[in-house]
Amino acid sequence: MLRTWFEIPLWQRVITALILGVLTGWAWGPEAESIKWIGDFFIKAIKMLVVPLIFFSLVSGVAAIGDLRKLGAVGGRAMLLFVLTGQIAVWLGLGLGTFVAPGSGVDTTAIEMGETPEPNPTTAVDMILSIVPESPVQVMADVAVLPLIVFSLLIGIGILMAREEGEPVQKIFDSGAVIMQKVTMIVMELTPFGVFALMAWVAGTLGLDALLALSKLVVLNYVGCLLIIFVMYSAMIKFLAKLPVRDFFRGIIDAMAVSYSTASSNATLPVTLRCTQRNLGVSPSVSSFVVSLGATINMNGTAMYLGLATLFGAQIFGVDLSLGQYFLISILATLGAVGAAGIPGAGLIMMALVFGAVGVPLETIAFVAGVDRIMDMMRTTTNVSGDAAVATTVAVMTGEIDRGEMVSADDV
Ligand code: ASP
Repeated sequence: MLRTWFEIPLWQRVITALILGVLTGWAWGPEAESIKWIGDFFIKAIKMLVVPLIFFSLVSGVAAIGDLRKLGAVGGRAMLLFVLTGQIAVWLGLGLGTFVAPGSGVDTTAIEMGETPEPNPTTAVDMILSIVPESPVQVMADVAVLPLIVFSLLIGIGILMAREEGEPVQKIFDSGAVIMQKVTMIVMELTPFGVFALMAWVAGTLGLDALLALSKLVVLNYVGCLLIIFVMYSAMIKFLAKLPVRDFFRGIIDAMAVSYSTASSNATLPVTLRCTQRNLGVSPSVSSFVVSLGATINMNGTAMYLGLATLFGAQIFGVDLSLGQYFLISILATLGAVGAAGIPGAGLIMMALVFGAVGVPLETIAFVAGVDRIMDMMRTTTNVSGDAAVATTVAVMTGEIDRGEMVSADDV
């Protein structure tokens, strides 16, 4: 029996678990919360991998790329794609919010209000300072991904500059990266169980009244995210990367399922890295750099949602927004998405940043808090798919992809 279990490809086990989890949650109701610990166990296990995986793979990847100019080309292209897709995403959210008006006619009395968060006093300067890894050990203990990336890049560059003298350390990092990939493989076997428990918990504890009252917003959040994934990313893969779109999605299906059930880009990072390297053939150098960076700063689902939610708030509270304020929202939503950590509910906190600047009451956040998880799951899937799409496209542009490694949708 155990053999038969392992013979089924992991992605099929994960998708089945996802569907069974939803059905179990519906049938079981709020009691399903009693198995949430299995999901938490799984999340803890994959989170354990994040720091060592980024550290070993990024240092080894930078050293392997060998040439700092190439590293610059990879980083530059990735940033350009992050910014461009982010802008398209925000304006999509603003467009959907304006034309479908999810906030008009909402029965606010049916909604159980959550907490209104305090506005976040983080400034742009704070954000810049937070990138500096003041203490690398602290950065690792806090799982602060952005400063960890900076530190790992610097160590990789140091190894390159040290030439022969850097080689022994480079070997240690190469070997560490391989070991971490193997450990990821072991932990990923927990995925079907974790996904099942998390989905059962979400489906069992969903507040149906709030969901119905806010159904327009929830549906628009899904429509926006699906458009980003299946139109924007598909176009990027087809026209920029010139790869088969079906194979791309087939390759990242595990990462999509894990991001959907965990609602955390950071927790999904080890899975995204594995999918891009093993199933899409993206070189470890490019994937570790672009995917880790993307997990913290490239959040198109979140950017789209911030635009949409601001209009939603303006509509329920009758706030008129000028065209100038639309532009302000587009800038702030992009910054909010960059600043949001890859953890559940991060987008909800970032709403305060945008709302405050355009005069939308912060109580809007309390209105949507009850249904945030279900929207967050879709945003996170969008964010993670975007990291994989950009990593794959940049890998093609810089010749860092091995097409022989790419799985074909027909193979399964
Ligand atoms: N949970 C999302 C992520 O991890 C961020 C958000 O809340 O939008 O990507």
